[in-house]
Amino acid sequence: MESTLTARDRVGVQDFVLLENYTSEAAFIENLRRRFGENLIYTYIGSVLVSVNPNKDLEIYSKAHMERYRGVSFYEISPHIYAVSDNTYRAMRTERRDQCILISGESGAGKTEASKKILQYYATTCPVTDHLSTLRDRLLQSNPVLEAFGNAKTLRNDNSSRFGKYMDVQFDFRGAPIGGHILNYLLEKSRVVHQNHGERNFHIFYQLLEGGEQDLLSKLGLERNAQKYQYLVKGCCPRVSSINDKNDWRTVRKALTVIGFHEDEVEDLLNIIASVLHLGNTQFGEGKNGENQITTETQLKYLSKLLGVDGAALREALTHKKITAKGEEMISPLSFEQAVAARDALAKAVYGRAFTWLVVKINQSLAFKDDVYNSSKGSSSVIGLLDIYGFEVFQHNSFEQFCINYCNEKLHQLFIELTLKSEQEEYEAEGITWEPVKYFDNKIICDLVEGKHKGLISILDEECLRPGEPSDISFLEKLEDTLGGHAHFVTHKLSNGKTRKAVSREEFKLIHYAGEVNYSVNGELANQSGNSVISDMSPLCNHTPWRFDEALVRHQVKYLGLMENLRVRRAGFAYRRHYETFLQRYKSLCPGTWPNWQGRLADGVATLVQHLGYKPEEYKLGKTKIFIRFPKTLFSTEDSLEA
Ligand code: ATP
Ligand code: MG
Repeated sequence: MESTLTARDRVGVQDFVLLENYTSEAAFIENLRRRFGENLIYTYIGSVLVSVNPNKDLEIYSKAHMERYRGVSFYEISPHIYAVSDNTYRAMRTERRDQCILISGESGAGKTEASKKILQYYATTCPVTDHLSTLRDRLLQSNPVLEAFGNAKTLRNDNSSRFGKYMDVQFDFRGAPIGGHILNYLLEKSRVVHQNHGERNFHIFYQLLEGGEQDLLSKLGLERNAQKYQYLVKGCCPRVSSINDKNDWRTVRKALTVIGFHEDEVEDLLNIIASVLHLGNTQFGEGKNGENQITTETQLKYLSKLLGVDGAALREALTHKKITAKGEEMISPLSFEQAVAARDALAKAVYGRAFTWLVVKINQSLAFKDDVYNSSKGSSSVIGLLDIYGFEVFQHNSFEQFCINYCNEKLHQLFIELTLKSEQEEYEAEGITWEPVKYFDNKIICDLVEGKHKGLISILDEECLRPGEPSDISFLEKLEDTLGGHAHFVTHKLSNGKTRKAVSREEFKLIHYAGEVNYSVNGELANQSGNSVISDMSPLCNHTPWRFDEALVRHQVKYLGLMENLRVRRAGFAYRRHYETFLQRYKSLCPGTWPNWQGRLADGVATLVQHLGYKPEEYKLGKTKIFIRFPKTLFSTEDSLEA
């Protein structure tokens, strides 16, 4: 037995298309594990980058690393998020087409960190002039601000994004960043009023209490003690060892200034944050005549001051409701439970609006200003970055999981469209014969959710608008009537009249492309879908540095459809280049093509690959490109040396 392992044995393959046992999930995971053991967290499947979160800082993100990846082709250097960033940037510049990088994965997988690394790459390597450097700083500083207001500590991630984010970076004809735009969606507002055990509210609350100057806290009527606030004690987790709220506060305050917030705007924003805390401490009790009333006068006083509303009107709004009967408006008192629900709804709404306002302000500050950058008029392109939660499957899945998983279904559609379909179409266009690979097209599930009239969302819409007494159960019955028998929709009813145990009477199951999920209809029509019951989810060890958590990795390999992707890639050709580019790049390797090939490009390429030792069955010549099944020699760079 040999005592030394070859480099490939040790570090695995840097592109899964080179994996011999490519249909085996175990071999796939073993390859990830080997690479992880050698500090190699990145691996390709063709142009898809798979990343395993190391949970510790690696020395692979320096400026020198960025320089190494500039202008270098995917296959010539070890896999890296910078390679994806650079190739996307060059594709945008050379093809003059907008590009998009989709980042997907479970909570804690490293999506947000990846999107920040991409942004840093552009900020460092793209050309900038003086006035553009302001924009570059604003782009970078938008992250700490959005994270303060939109991220929170959860069981799975100390800095979990509780909203989806799509960010556009706009570049001018010289390739310099000139503008940006952020689209946010699905902010988890329920977190403002409730957190599960071991979780926290949004970071900003703790940052303000820990870091805010004494004067400021006094003005806001706040005490420097998170334990005093009902909205901050639900998760029993005021402090997190990996988080320094005081330092983060300073970072956020500075970032707000860089982005261009005026002092009075910051004041307004903090007034809202403080008023949410006062709302949480607003209590109700019985008055002299048995009526429900606010028993915490100080809170009411601060609320009316901070929100700039009349105290009496606020008192009334929190304890009474207006109903219209027979054309007449009547005011009726709220019960204790109703008042608590109204208070929480107000807190969620106020916070949600503040977040939306924040994004609008950031967008104004990032907006491309034609008058300043008039040299760029008319010719700009965009790189989009999508950072969205991956599939969520809990023991109890509500409307929130449904929306997230539907979004992932749509993303998978796009993924199929962009990678699998276009792959096959390219072979056809180039006149290359090959056996089309069968793959599961999840359009059938997208249609089930979004189809007009017969889709799940239309049925929910219709039930909500139906006069009479729509209920969760009538909604479920309507779903059964319309969708019963669909291959991807299951309820407790079996066609033979018996019941299916795996689905309760208040649930329906969707068979997603990545797996099965039971959704509860409880409270959907009452619009209480809000909080996902994550408390019964056992904490995962995603937090342990440098531990290869096989169960977690396997789950994601499945839910991201990676084996399917590899199968299609492997069935085709891993490498392709336009004849001209290929000849230009490698002509020096063959005396027959050096220094210049005079004949037809395809003939020159054929001379070159034959000289490199490729057998006829190992490559194909298309109309404009060469296709190589496994470009072994071109993968000559050992990434163990690179890392
Ligand atoms: P969520 O869906 O909950 O927002 P996420 O996929 O965005 O999760 P991140 O917040 O990006 O996850 O990553 C979680 C943590 O993992 C980070 O705070 C960081 O500590 C660590 N981490 C992620 N990527 C890397 C990396 N490349 N190197 C070192 N640590 C990392
Ligand atoms: Mg995130």
